[in-house]
Amino acid sequence: LDDVAQRVIARLRGLPAPGVPDPGHPFVLVAKDLAPADTALLDLDKVLALVTTEGGPTSHTAILAREKAIVAVVGVADAAGLKDGETVIVDAAAGVVVTQPTDEELARAKNRADARASAASAPITPGAMKDGFEVPLLVNLGNAEGAAEAVALGAEGVGLFRTEFLFLSSSQAPTVEQQRVVYEKLLAAFPGKKVVVRVLDAGADKPLPFLNDAHEENPALGLRGLRALRASEDILREQLTALAEADAATRAAGDGADLWVMAPMVATVEETEYFTSIAREYGIRTAGVMVEVPSSALLADRILAVADFASIGTNDLTQYTMAADRLLGSVAAFQDPWHPAVLRLVREVGEAGRANGKPVGICGEAAADPMLAVVLVGLGATSLSMAPTALADVRATLLQYTLGEAQAIAEAALAANDAASARAAAQSAAASTSSPAAEAAATREKETEQ
Ligand code: PEP
Ligand code: MG
Repeated sequence: LDDVAQRVIARLRGLPAPGVPDPGHPFVLVAKDLAPADTALLDLDKVLALVTTEGGPTSHTAILAREKAIVAVVGVADAAGLKDGETVIVDAAAGVVVTQPTDEELARAKNRADARASAASAPITPGAMKDGFEVPLLVNLGNAEGAAEAVALGAEGVGLFRTEFLFLSSSQAPTVEQQRVVYEKLLAAFPGKKVVVRVLDAGADKPLPFLNDAHEENPALGLRGLRALRASEDILREQLTALAEADAATRAAGDGADLWVMAPMVATVEETEYFTSIAREYGIRTAGVMVEVPSSALLADRILAVADFASIGTNDLTQYTMAADRLLGSVAAFQDPWHPAVLRLVREVGEAGRANGKPVGICGEAAADPMLAVVLVGLGATSLSMAPTALADVRATLLQYTLGEAQAIAEAALAANDAASARAAAQSAAASTSSPAAEAAATREKETEQ
């Protein structure tokens, strides 16, 4: 609305609409924050990178930048002091902006940018570590239309289909028929591949009027996710009916996928039993839960004795572990999945998965951070799911390390006291494996220290 208001005011005053400047050559765009329309319309041939002084990692600017694979660092308050014409290095992997870089730093940055470009054009192979240990690389989707692009970028399936995104603007619960059409389209786009659909995750940042009608002081801690569905069980039953029908129809047509269904915001073993048994009533063959609440990570051994799989949502797991609202810029610094407290919880779930012989996927934004992806595999993740644009970087980085090396890198991160030291410890542990990616990581670490 702010964006629209500014545009209307400019029109009334006879001024050009506010927007991104065009200096006539490629440049790094520094802004307080960007309006969604500006981020969506950025000319990627001109804007080399984006730096904002406000906003957190889950702000709309960050999310859109990630979707468009724009190099971006958000929430850099000091960037307000940058002058037009200054040369900077924007290092999104380390989350820093290097000012007054030396020629040597510039040359190294260029090498890294070239390496990233060649990763993007490298042949698409199934996700694996250097020793061949397979780590399927899946995608997060919010609608079936995104499937074709994801397949073109090498998605080996879908790790998270956010069904609530389909109905954010509906005031009434969708019908079975409305849902079945979408699910059929999705499943048919991934014949024979794994497709993990999450039942409606309504509440907090994604309220659905037909599921969340009460005012809550703290909606992130309220009747959301599976709790809200349980309070309106008919809606859950209709969704499971639509999924089962879409599964049957696509299988009958010969282009069925391997459908897995999971529940969001599961906090207890009892909720796991509730969801898996109701899903099985509808013939869902693989029923699992998301681990986004510390309680379910801590009891993952018991949860995975019941569920067929777990998928860790690192966005919410970080929010709840650090007690920091994921939408609030003022506490954005706490919202860092590298924090060893979060990594310990991931390790709990990884170990529970191994002990129970059950898969443990990761579907939060953490899986899209290439070095953190290595750490997550070292902690026991068996698949990673991310925005399609992140696939190439993660695929190239996993290939640089063996599973044993990933475990050693994860141990180094776990031993740190905070997120920044965990990131640095992982980078130096990676450097001791002396792969090209590790050398780049070590250089980055040195630059960050300086
Ligand atoms: C998460 O919490 O990490 C997750 C994947 O779910 P969402 O971002 O949709 O809450
Ligand atoms: Mg979540």
